[in-house]
Order: sequence, then C-alpha cells, then structure tokens
Amino acid sequence: MSHNSITIKEIEPLAPFSQGSTEIFFTGHWSSRKPVYVNKTSPCRQGCPIGNDIARAFHHAAKGEYDEALRIYRQDNPLPGVCGRVCYHPCETACNRKSFDEAINIRGFERFLADHGKVDITREMTTNKRPETIAIVGSGPAGLSAAYHLARLGFSVTIFEALPEPGGMLMYGIPEYRLPREVLRKEIGYIRDLGVELKTGIRVGKDVTLPDLKKEYNAIFIAVGAHKGMGFGIAGEGSPGVIEGITYLRTINIGKKVKLGKKVAVIGGGNTAIDCARTVRRLGAKDITIIYRRSRAEMPALAEDVEGMEREGIKIELLAAPKRLITENGKLSGIECVRMKLGEPDASGRPRPLPIEGSEFLVPVDSLIAAIGQAPETDLANEPGLSWTSQGMIDITRMGVTTMDGVFAGGDGAGTKAYVADAIASGKVSALAIVCYLNGTDANKEFAEHRIGAASSFSFQHFIDPETYPSDLTKIVPYEKVNTLCFPHGARRDNPDTVGIKGFQEVLGGLDKAEMAAEIYRCFKCGTCTGCDLCFLLCPDLSLVKEKKGYSVRVDYCKGCSICATSCPRNVIEMREGIKQGSRVPGFEDFREKTSGKNEPKKTSSQSEREGEASLTGAPTQRVVRVEGATQAQGIGGGI
Ligand SMILES: Cc1cc2nc3c(=O)[nH]c(=O)nc-3n(C[C@H](O)[C@H](O)[C@H](O)COP(=O)(O)OP(=O)(O)OC[C@H]3O[C@@H](n4cnc5c(N)ncnc54)[C@H](O)[C@@H]3O)c2cc1C
Ligand code: SF4
Ligand code: SF4
Ligand code: SF4
Repeated sequence: MSHNSITIKEIEPLAPFSQGSTEIFFTGHWSSRKPVYVNKTSPCRQGCPIGNDIARAFHHAAKGEYDEALRIYRQDNPLPGVCGRVCYHPCETACNRKSFDEAINIRGFERFLADHGKVDITREMTTNKRPETIAIVGSGPAGLSAAYHLARLGFSVTIFEALPEPGGMLMYGIPEYRLPREVLRKEIGYIRDLGVELKTGIRVGKDVTLPDLKKEYNAIFIAVGAHKGMGFGIAGEGSPGVIEGITYLRTINIGKKVKLGKKVAVIGGGNTAIDCARTVRRLGAKDITIIYRRSRAEMPALAEDVEGMEREGIKIELLAAPKRLITENGKLSGIECVRMKLGEPDASGRPRPLPIEGSEFLVPVDSLIAAIGQAPETDLANEPGLSWTSQGMIDITRMGVTTMDGVFAGGDGAGTKAYVADAIASGKVSALAIVCYLNGTDANKEFAEHRIGAASSFSFQHFIDPETYPSDLTKIVPYEKVNTLCFPHGARRDNPDTVGIKGFQEVLGGLDKAEMAAEIYRCFKCGTCTGCDLCFLLCPDLSLVKEKKGYSVRVDYCKGCSICATSCPRNVIEMREGIKQGSRVPGFEDFREKTSGKNEPKKTSSQSEREGEASLTGAPTQRVVRVEGATQAQGIGGGI
C-alpha cells in the first residue's frame, strides 16, 4: 500500500466478516448515532466574492459535462470568461488543496469552461415575467451583473451607458493583451439575449437626470465606476509629457494614438500603473520605469502581473516617490524622487510611506504617466437626494441602498473593493435588494438565508432554486475534514505564458483538455458528494443502499461506527443523534439522475443487490477502484 492511496483489493479480506451476519444481527439497535448525507460548501466558494459554486462545477466537469459546469458558474456570475482571465482569484487563497500541495488553478478552470462550454441562454429565461421596470446607470461589471440577475428574475431592464460601447473598465481600461474584446462582447451578448436593453452614449446627470429616470422606472441601480484619474499634487504636474493613466489607457483602447517619448516613468503600483507600463512597452518604448512609494508586498496589482511586466523588461523603483518635475525648454526632462521608508499602518491598513530626508535622486524621463488612483466622475454629484462619502463615493449600506428611495448603487463608484469580482458581487447584492424592495420583503433577512459561510456573498442559485441546489451554505469544509488519504499529490497546472510582447495578443494561454483534466482530478470537490461509492464499499454492516438519487442508510443495521463518515473523501457524511430506528435515511444528491448512467462505472452483481430494496447477502465486491481517484470507467478526473 502506498502512503497515500489504497485499493479495494487491498482491504477486501475485511469485507466477508459482515457478510451474512448483518442480516441476523440488528446492530443498528446498538447505537443512537447514524450517518446523514449533507452537501456542504467548499472554502474556495466562501473565498470567491461572487460565491461561485466551484466544487459542484468541478464535479460536473470531471464527468465531461462542461456545459453543465459552465451553467453552474453562470447561476451566479454572468462574466466567467472575463473573471477566468483577470480575477485576482481569492478563491485560490482559500483552497483546501493549498494545505496539501498547491492550490487548484480555479481561475484557469473558469476560463476553460467559458472557452469550451456552450451557453443555452433559454435555460436562464423565466416565463414568470414581472411588470416592474429597472434602470441601470453604467455598464461595467457591476451594472452588467445587476442587469443579468434582474432579467433572469423576469424584470424589464434598461442600461444607460455614457460611452459608445458597454463594458466599463473591461472595455476601456484593462488592455486587450489580458482581456480579448471578443470574450467580453460574447458575454455581454448573452446579457442582451436575456432581453436587457443597452442604451449607449447617454450620460445620466447630463443627457437625462435621476429624477427623470425615477418617473419612468420602479427602481434604479447606479454603477458609474471611478473614471476620474487623480493628480499627485506636485509642481509641474500639468507640463507637456505628463498624462493621467486612465485617460492614457482609454485613448489607446479606443484605437487613438498618444505621443510619448523614449524614456517613460509610470507612478503607481496598482493595475492601472502596470497596464500603462505594459501598454507603453507594446507600443515601442524600451526604457520604462514604475515608481512606487511602498514595497513590492504592498503593491495593489496582482503579483503575477507584476512578474509578467518584469519579464517584459520594465524596471521598478520601489520605496520612491516623485517630489518635483524637472522641465527644460518647457519639456519634461526628469523627475526628482525621494527614497521612502515604511512607518505605522495608515487608514488603508498598509504601512505609511515616509520620506527619508536628503535621499533625493533624479530619474531622467521625457514622459510621465500618473496612475495613482481614481474617483467617480461628477455627473451625479448635484443630483438631489444622493449622499456621498468624504472619499467622493456614493454612500450606501451593505445591501447597496442609497439615501434616495428606490435607488441603489454599487461597484467602484460606491467604494466597493476595486476589483471585477467585487463589482459583480455588488451588482448581485443590489439585484437582491431591488427584488426585495419591489416585493416588500426584508433584503437583509433574505441575504442571511442564502449567505455563503461568513462571506459577504450569497448564492443566487440557492435563492432562485433551493430544491436543485440544496447544499448547506453555512457549513464550510475545513482541510482537516478532507480525507487526504484518498488523493495523490500532484503538481498544479498553470496557464502558459504564450506570446510575450507581440502586439496586443493575449499573453496568457488557456489550458488544453488534458491539462485541465489533470487539474479537475486534483480538486477534492470539498463538500460535494460525487457518488464515489467509498462509503458504500467500506460499510462493514452493508447498511448503505444505492438509490436512484444518492444513498440511503438502513438504520436497523447501521451500528454507528462512523467508518463511512470518517472515510468520506470530501466530508459529506455526518454522524447525528436521534434518528428513528426502523427508518431509512435518504441521501439527497441528484448526481445519478443527471449522469443518467452514461458515465457510470459498470455495476457488479453485489452492487446491484444493494441497490433499491436488494438483499444484503452479496459476495464481497469485485470492483477495483483507486480510492483516491476515479473509478477507471469514469474518464477524466473521475467521479470521486
Ligand atoms: C487599467 C485597469 C486594470 C484593471 N485590472 C483589473 C484586474 O486585472 N482584475 C480586477 O479584478 N480588476 C481590475 N481592475 C478594476 C476593475 O476594472 C474595476 O474594479 C471594475 O471595472 C469596476 O466595475 P464597475 O462596474 O463598478 O465600474 P466600471 O467598470 O468603471 O464601469 C462604470 C461604467 O459606468 C459608465 N458611466 C459613468 N458615469 C456614467 C453616467 N453618468 N451615465 C452613464 N454611464 C456612466 C462608465 O462609462 C462605465 O462604462 C482594473 C482597472 C483598471 C482601470
Ligand atoms: S470569480 Fe475569481 S474568486 Fe470567484 S471563482 Fe472565479 S477566479 Fe475565483
Ligand atoms: S480542493 Fe477543489 S473544492 Fe476544495 S477548496 Fe480547492 S478548488 Fe475548492
Ligand atoms: S459505515 Fe455503515 S455501520 Fe458504520 S456508521 Fe456508516 S452506515 Fe453505519
């Protein structure tokens, strides 16, 4: 026996002990503790701001059901192709597999599904149409997410967008080499297919006012983002050769040119700064330096994007801040910078950067991009009834409720954590709040009922269809409860870095089917019963019965030994007190119905006997499985 895998062949000699005797001895009467099957929630799901049902999607993908796996993602997230490329993947930080070897490439999986799965949008449509109409201001990820969820619930939704194309920062901020526009346009297309009307080129606050919209619509969601770049307040900021980061990226993204010199500095350490530097590199400049006032650990940009940028030959000057711009004949010629040291944490929780006196140094440049932060534009600033925070954001409650009746807000413009997944999550939360507002129900109560663990996300699939998705959202499977004896160690498959700096072609490639299969196999599928049969095979009293839907427990024969619960690879069996003798406790999982037998392993005679009301006198099972992985018949990743 290897240290981390067991085969049933090796434990077979134990099985005959209970053959025959079980029928005679009602060992079930010896114990009050009985097993109960409970699908739980994976920690990756709790870590995902959107609350994607990752484990269940992995389970379907393991059976080759990519379309179904994609549909599971799309129950909560309308933009899996986008998130599968640019999300900062907090799900992976929470992944149980991290404690075993390396976290699963969950983001790569989401991208794979979006690229390979088929979407049948008719399955998302409801015949239960609602009479109310909803206006959404802004078509970034927050606005698109709210529109998608509200349209799925039967409301008529219209999005008002100031720019010519929808998508917000996904269209006008994040460059093509990280997010190809056909991926974005395809996913926005599905939202249109749901019946959402998109009116572009209309700026709310100028072309139409909030009170105008209030007269026509039953509720409004504001998701205007933060498109106004902030200056850094030093002398010479307005000189020729200095441009603000968001303006620079937007100009390039609409296909216009910006003339920059050969030596370019970019101030900032966030996504915008890194994307500005990499865009400049692709447009021909070779001498590019990022100047950031804190250390690498505090950079808000994703570490992998910073590493990608360094591979492209872009330098970073850490713990440095600009003090003065130097011009010659009216042209920028350099930046006087000062070295910084880290002090006590500031309001953001990060160490405050403090200048070191006398440490000034010169960075010679002929162009400078300032990418140090953004705030919402001021179109809505004078709309009566809307309150703003001291940081210039729309003032909202946890459910996105503003100070105006029937008006909700979310995303970057309302101070949500400035990432795509968080913007999508805030659109979801406000969609729920809007439904409750129109139904006259309590949004906080509804949120709590469908909340995922301790996270600030909830499950839309659970809200819409708790029968199909009955998982217990309050129970998060910890690593200690995964039966790791069932899984072999294996290296993580990362998405390949494909093209370097060839134009604006996508830098990261997708995983191919074989690599994805290996990654799907690595996932424990924490908390999701996959029908692996381990409990069924190991029960010494043959008390578990395979049903059309999952398993049931013959309480009269179960002596409560806990072998099934302890051995369950993914912690879906719990031992509970107080279950009535003479009863049969049903499992609940519908995996057998979904697969309809086509991917299931061949049954042996003893297995068949224990299905339904079969007798309990079967011979020891002949089936050989690798307990840690799939039954051989189940192909990639297997059903375990
Ligand atoms: C360069 C860059 C790179 C980024 N990279 C990443 C990344 O890799 N990963 C990540 O998770 N996040 C990233 N982000 C952050 C992410 O893009 C944002 O957090 C997210 O787009 C915010 O979504 P939103 O819907 O709130 O706003 P936005 O995406 O900004 O959309 C707001 C929309 O509202 C419209 N609008 C504004 N005012 C009005 C008005 N008055 N009337 C009508 N329409 C209006 C705007 O035109 C815009 O289309 C990046 C941001 C930038 C700028
Ligand atoms: S949206 Fe982001 S956090 Fe959520 S599953 Fe996808 S990659 Fe992970
Ligand atoms: S092993 Fe799979 S189900 Fe478990 S936390 Fe990681 S990705 Fe999620
Ligand atoms: S392994 Fe069998 S006898 Fe033991 S608790 Fe589970 S069902 Fe009961």
